[in-house]
Amino acid sequence: MEREGEERFCFIAEWYDPHAAFIRRYQFMYYVKDGTVEMFDIKNHRMFLKKTRIETIRPEDLYIGNTVNILSRQMNFVDYGDDFTRARLSHKKERTLGMIKPDAMSKMGQIIDLICQKGFLITKLKMCQLNRNEAFQFYQEHQGKPFLDTLLNFVTSGPVIAFELMGENCVSQWREALGPTDSAIARSEAPQSIRARFGKNKTENACHGSDSSSSAARELEFFFPSNGPSRQNTAKFTDCTCCVVKPHAVKSGLAGKIISSILEAGFEISMLEMFNMEKANAEEFYEVYKGVVQEYGSMVAELTSGPCLAMEIRAQNAPQAFREMVGPSDPEIARHLRPRTLRALFGVDKVRNAVHCTDLPEDGLLEVEYFFKILGR
Ligand code: ADP
Ligand code: MG
Repeated sequence: MEREGEERFCFIAEWYDPHAAFIRRYQFMYYVKDGTVEMFDIKNHRMFLKKTRIETIRPEDLYIGNTVNILSRQMNFVDYGDDFTRARLSHKKERTLGMIKPDAMSKMGQIIDLICQKGFLITKLKMCQLNRNEAFQFYQEHQGKPFLDTLLNFVTSGPVIAFELMGENCVSQWREALGPTDSAIARSEAPQSIRARFGKNKTENACHGSDSSSSAARELEFFFPSNGPSRQNTAKFTDCTCCVVKPHAVKSGLAGKIISSILEAGFEISMLEMFNMEKANAEEFYEVYKGVVQEYGSMVAELTSGPCLAMEIRAQNAPQAFREMVGPSDPEIARHLRPRTLRALFGVDKVRNAVHCTDLPEDGLLEVEYFFKILGR
């Protein structure tokens, strides 16, 4: 019998061993009482990690699809490891598909902020542009409805942001947060809801949410296919620079506020996607800092410590203009010298300085291409 406080959660975790070019599988145990982790190598029937406290792993990090760092290896949770864990966690880790529709894209920061404040976890996110066929496929249940044509014109009129949310009873909780379909009715019946606050009318109602767990599964597969090509991204690859909201800032729920600040300053966010960076990719991305910046190792560790949000930022002289807004790399210095910059406002220290931005003007496009042509493929 498991007693309160003595729970042990078990997952199957995989690690790609680059030297052996081989995926290793582990049983991963997490003891809630003291936050310790223990791991067994499944194939070799060997203890891999004796019961050890790992400061960076919290109970909320335990869900299928997440990646955690153990002894500088990136472990990916691929399944529950026992029935107890499945029974205890699966209802708390329900998933749904949400989407910011074209009419509310200028409010993306506020909406993402609200999602985090309401306690939903964003586990995937991507800005996309749907064509008519795709929109029809997405809204197939509305075939024959009188409003279908208007709806298809509307959702293909500009980019959308699709996201996977995770949480307890997430499907119904997100529907509740949205409010009634018609924004006018939402304003009278649920004035705090997203559609009341950000929607315009019956069609332009700011956001979408799956109406059941089976729709959620279908709609998640539509935007985030488990295999096969993903949706067309919206990156333009002109007049651009790269911004990455670092994992510590995403974890602290600051992504929405950072996005709002960027938009308020007049920059265009023409592409936005959540990534779980592999160590080898983080090293490659930060290559220019290797041997130059003392914090290189810690920067790589930070960038791989959880999901980050990469953006294509567009403006005139985008790299220089955006760099100005980001501020000095050390948030302490930024708070003294440039108190209105992103790092002054949202940074913690030199490594956890809220955002990465491109340093050299000629690298703006290259960094954007790294995320949205190379990693995003
Ligand atoms: P919901 O998005 O709340 O699940 P539906 O699935 O019924 O609502 O409809 C899908 C979308 O079609 C709505 O969010 C809205 O954008 C649009 N829509 C629904 N009903 C109407 C209507 N009567 N007139 C115009 N547009 C509508
Ligand atoms: Mg619906």
